[in-house]
Amino acid sequence: MAAGIVPLPVAEKLVAAGQRMDRRGWVPATSGNLSARLSGDRMAITRSGVHKGFLETQDIIEVDFAGRSLTPGMKPSAETLLHCQIYALWPDIGSVLHGHSIPATALTMALPEASAIHLQGYEILKAWSNVVSTHDISVALPIIDNDQDMPRLAAQLQPWLEQGRAPIGYVLRGHGIYVWGSDVNAALYRLEALEFLLATEIERRKLV
Ligand SMILES: [Zn+2]
Repeated sequence: MAAGIVPLPVAEKLVAAGQRMDRRGWVPATSGNLSARLSGDRMAITRSGVHKGFLETQDIIEVDFAGRSLTPGMKPSAETLLHCQIYALWPDIGSVLHGHSIPATALTMALPEASAIHLQGYEILKAWSNVVSTHDISVALPIIDNDQDMPRLAAQLQPWLEQGRAPIGYVLRGHGIYVWGSDVNAALYRLEALEFLLATEIERRKLV
């Protein structure tokens, strides 16, 4: 495979995931980004500024783990460094997905002092069977203050990501969700589970 050209099956998986995220309303305007690990410390990621519902396979570009584009003339997403960080930490992670949903944005804005959302008692937590052995335990979803400076934001995230067990994902305040999995579909299922949890948390808080 020529340098900078993403294998077609990988690009097609990311295009399909982008379409699904768009149908669910998780990537408004040109927000969000999607990536998959390639061999040799490289990844496939959506290029900057493209709508995720209208992705084409040529919008998926190759980037190294320092966030540098290997596809001539194509710029990666501004948030590529946050994807690099996850791949560098956990070799078994094969895909990272990021979206800007209403539940993730609204709930984190409504909790300006909170550093985590504690999720407990939800059956769907089983989506993280590597982290969660019973739906009864409390799982912390870290909330990190948003920052336009990506190296600074990555440094803020590092202690959260490195402590004990990996979190189930994280949310950036007023911004969106990051979640990951062994491959694109596994990451997509977890994104769906996390979006369900945040939307349910909002509904539950309205009722008490
Ligand atoms: Zn974003």
